[in-house]
Amino acid sequence: MGQRYEAFHRRSIEDREGFWAEQAQLIDWHEPFTQVLDYSRPPFARWFVGGRTNLCHNAIDRHLAERAGQPALIHVSTETNEETVYSFAELHRETMTMAAILAGQGVERGDRVLIYMPMIPQAVFAMLACARIGAIHSVVFGGFASNSLAARIDDATPKVVVSADAGSRAGKAIAYKPLLDEAIRIARHKPASVVLVDRGLAPMERVAGRDLDYAELRKAHAEAEVPVTWLESNEISYTLYTSGTTGTPKGVQRDVGGYAVALAASMRHIYCGKAGETYFCTSDIGWVVGHSYIVYGPLIAGMATILYEGTPIRPDAGILWQLVEKYRVSLMFSAPTAIRVLKKQDPALLTKYDTSSLRTLFLAGEPLDEPTARWISEGLGRPIIDNYWQTETGWPILALANGVERMTAKFGSPGVPMYGYDLHLLHEQTGAELGVNEKGVVAIFPPLPPGCMQTVWGDDERFVETYFTTIPGQAAYSTFDWGIRDEDGYYFILGRTDDVINVAGHRLGTREIEESLSHHAALAECAVIGMADAIKGQVAVAFAVLKDASAAAQPEAALRLEKEMLAIVDRQLGAVARPSRVYFVMALPKTRSGKVLRRAIQAVCEQRDPGDLTTIEDPNALQQVRDAVGSPHG
Ligand code: ATP
Ligand code: MG
Repeated sequence: MGQRYEAFHRRSIEDREGFWAEQAQLIDWHEPFTQVLDYSRPPFARWFVGGRTNLCHNAIDRHLAERAGQPALIHVSTETNEETVYSFAELHRETMTMAAILAGQGVERGDRVLIYMPMIPQAVFAMLACARIGAIHSVVFGGFASNSLAARIDDATPKVVVSADAGSRAGKAIAYKPLLDEAIRIARHKPASVVLVDRGLAPMERVAGRDLDYAELRKAHAEAEVPVTWLESNEISYTLYTSGTTGTPKGVQRDVGGYAVALAASMRHIYCGKAGETYFCTSDIGWVVGHSYIVYGPLIAGMATILYEGTPIRPDAGILWQLVEKYRVSLMFSAPTAIRVLKKQDPALLTKYDTSSLRTLFLAGEPLDEPTARWISEGLGRPIIDNYWQTETGWPILALANGVERMTAKFGSPGVPMYGYDLHLLHEQTGAELGVNEKGVVAIFPPLPPGCMQTVWGDDERFVETYFTTIPGQAAYSTFDWGIRDEDGYYFILGRTDDVINVAGHRLGTREIEESLSHHAALAECAVIGMADAIKGQVAVAFAVLKDASAAAQPEAALRLEKEMLAIVDRQLGAVARPSRVYFVMALPKTRSGKVLRRAIQAVCEQRDPGDLTTIEDPNALQQVRDAVGSPHG
């Protein structure tokens, strides 16, 4: 860790209030706060108490004086072949109109609005409109079907739902409206009204007295002036669910002031974004990355943000770089899963476009294996920064703060603890503090910094129980991830605490085995799980997706590849870590956010019920696992 950053980080822990009072100057306050931190009821932290501000004001209004005509929201859909650029003034106009529409439906400060939308501008207008009037938004990823949606409707109890006729994926319209109707039918809570954007992609049946047409309402409110509602810093801005990779999703609740400050600070210290530049985050507004770095973060920083509807490989695998060239993107944020998709495509597309405007590509959301990191950074000739965080934290826990001091990235590591995070590695059974190169649970000593979750929506007890009671003897926040720290202070994430397997008494992280397998040149991605074994307790089993699936089409070829892969594990980790089998599949079962559903794979391997699958992307991938395990040649 560099000396300057080390001092910066130390101060953020030792002089919390002084440090964050300074960072708070990065945003506009309508009324100053009277107390930086109220920590009178641990582990609940209240930041910037008494201060009044507004996320929408900081994202839009604040920039009108200097950059009204500059691009704010750039919408690109390769699904419908639309491209629309909204300036800050136009975004302001559309957001006030949407705010008037919601207010017209009786939405008041503190009321919930559920947003079930594809990646279209109206989704962003709706989020910002809620923020403007102090309504709490709850965005539900557009890919979810009725059951997941119904559960979220019941949890959030929204007065209004904002939705659309359809999304589109790989050129195929996916009707949302029937899914929404079914969800409202199943849900106990019934929203009073549903505002519908009609894209003309799928027919809609309208429920009289409930369903409203956005285009009509927009006309009616085209001139509406809706002033910003100044909110106390600790009022609620939104709720959002975790991905459900390990269990039932948790409703993360976030504040206003702390979040605005945390994002503004991250845009300066971590992402190094400058007002007037363009930020391109390929996530979805249904995830925390979309909230923080498609919508609020870049706009608070005065940057233009790209809202992209489409896949990374259509019309071809050069589309992301083509957009970088066209909009002179300075900073990009994507996920390893998207890069692994590109890895299966022609690498020449990485250099076909002029990407010289791009300073850094940030990747987050899952482990970034070293071969993938090298492939993309060498292919693009641009630095890659891995960053590690969670829905719960809202912004990076581990990254490099190049805005404070330039630091070198280490392959395989998301970097060092970010300012504000008092990060520790703790022994899972004793809670003891661990030293250099000792593997432990990544934990944060509270209070959590600004921007992190306030609580679980409607359930303070679950917040304390879930996050603060699992490490013996320590009232620390558990990330439920394993990590290790090297002598330079860089952390390495070794997988999730429930992804540890026990082979004949040896505790192995499935992540380490995956990382090892990934060194085989033919591999695109893989998942390792522990399967119950009568003799050894558990054995590791691997599922592998090849860059070129036909390479394992012949049984002999598959056998040879399997042997080669196992030999790498033998060499790097030892025979004890060697999976008993490597099965070749076309795709891995993943959540809609692109994370591997190891718990479901494991259940299928052990012929158990895979449990909650509401967040699965493609049930067919799980069927392939089932078939693979059942067949003698994988
Ligand atoms: P749930 O908590 O419901 O099981 P989830 O943990 O997948 O779902 P998210 O909040 O979307 O929900 O994901 C955060 C998790 O993703 C982290 O705890 C970590 O396991 C993983 N992760 C995120 N970024 C990285 C990264 N850069 N390197 C390694 N792992 C990462
Ligand atoms: Mg989690």
